[in-house]
Amino acid sequence: MLPSSFEYHRPTTIDEALDLLASLGDDAKVLAGGQSLIPMMKLRFAAPAHLVDINRIEGLDAIEEADGELHIGALVRHNQLAGSELIGSKYPLIAAAAPQIADPLVRNLGTIGGSLTHCDPSGDLGAVMLAANARVVLKSKDGEREVPVTEFLADTFQSSIAPNELLTKVRITSPTGAYGGTYLKLERKIGDYATVAVATRLMMSNGSIGAAGIGLTSVGLTNIKATAAEDALVGQAPSRELFAEAGQLAAAAASPVGDVRGSEQYKRHMVEVYVRRGLTRSAEMAGAA
Ligand SMILES: Cc1cc2nc3c(=O)[nH]c(=O)nc-3n(C[C@H](O)[C@H](O)[C@H](O)COP(=O)(O)OP(=O)(O)OC[C@H]3O[C@@H](n4cnc5c(N)ncnc54)[C@H](O)[C@@H]3O)c2cc1C
Repeated sequence: MLPSSFEYHRPTTIDEALDLLASLGDDAKVLAGGQSLIPMMKLRFAAPAHLVDINRIEGLDAIEEADGELHIGALVRHNQLAGSELIGSKYPLIAAAAPQIADPLVRNLGTIGGSLTHCDPSGDLGAVMLAANARVVLKSKDGEREVPVTEFLADTFQSSIAPNELLTKVRITSPTGAYGGTYLKLERKIGDYATVAVATRLMMSNGSIGAAGIGLTSVGLTNIKATAAEDALVGQAPSRELFAEAGQLAAAAASPVGDVRGSEQYKRHMVEVYVRRGLTRSAEMAGAA
C-alpha cells in the first residue's frame, strides 16, 4: 500500500527543525532512518501530514566521550555503533548488541534516536539503554531536558517525547574500574527480531559488584529493566548462586506472551538462562569470574 500524501521538509539545522516541529505540532513526524516510520506509513498505521527529515542536519551523528560520559548522537546508525572503535574498546554491551540488530540493510539506515523513540518492546537498543542507565536529551524551542530511558520508554510504541521535541543525543556514564557487559539474543533466524533477548552489565568495586544493569527485550509491553535482579547483585561478590538468583528475579519481572516463537514458559525460562549466562560472561570480562 502507498502512504497517504504528506508534505516533506528537509531542515539543515536543529533550530530549523525545532521551528518546524513547533509550528506543525501533532501533524508532523520526524523522519530519521525511516526503517520503522515508512513501513508504518505504508500500512497506514501512521499518516502524518508533514515529515521533518533530519538526515541533513550536521552534528547529530557523533559518538564521543566528554566529562566522564559517552554521547551518542540521535542519527548514529546501528552499523556505526557496530563499527565504532570507542564502543568496541570500552562499551562491550553496546558492541555486542549493535551487530545483532536486524540485517545489514536496516543497520545502515536505522538510528539510535529512531529506535528509542519508536518504543518497540522488541527493539534491542531499548533494553541495552535500560541496562546502561542511559538518559536521552530532548530539545525544543522552549529549551532542553534530560530524561532517563526508564521514563522515556513510556509504553508500547509510545515514548514520552512531546510533538515539538527532537531527541538529539543519548548519554551514558562511562565505566570506571573493571567492568563487563554483553547482549544475548535468541532469534529464529539471523536478522529477525528477538524471541527473547537480555542485556547485562556489571561494574566491580573492591571485589564486589558496584553496579549492575539488566534489560529485557520482547518479553513484555515495553523493554523491561529488571530492577529487583539488579538490586540483588549490588554489593555482593559474584557467584554462580547469585547469578542464578538474579536470573530468577529477572524472569519474574518478565511478562512474555506465548506465540509461534515459543510458549510463555519457554520465554520466561530463556530470560533466566540468558541473565545467568550474561552475568557470568560480564563477570569474566571484568576479571571477576
Ligand atoms: C526488516 C526490519 C527488521 C528489523 N529488525 C530489528 C531488530 O532485530 N531489532 C531492532 O531493535 N530493530 C529492528 N528493526 C527496526 C530498526 O532498528 C529501526 O531502524 C528503528 O526501530 C527505527 O529507527 P529509524 O532511525 O529507522 O527511525 P524512523 O523509522 O525514522 O522513526 C521511528 C520513530 O521515531 C521518531 N523519531 C526518529 N528519530 C527521532 C528523533 N531524533 N527525535 C524525535 N523523534 C524521532 C519518528 O518520528 C518515528 O515515530 C527492524 C526494521 C526492519 C525494517
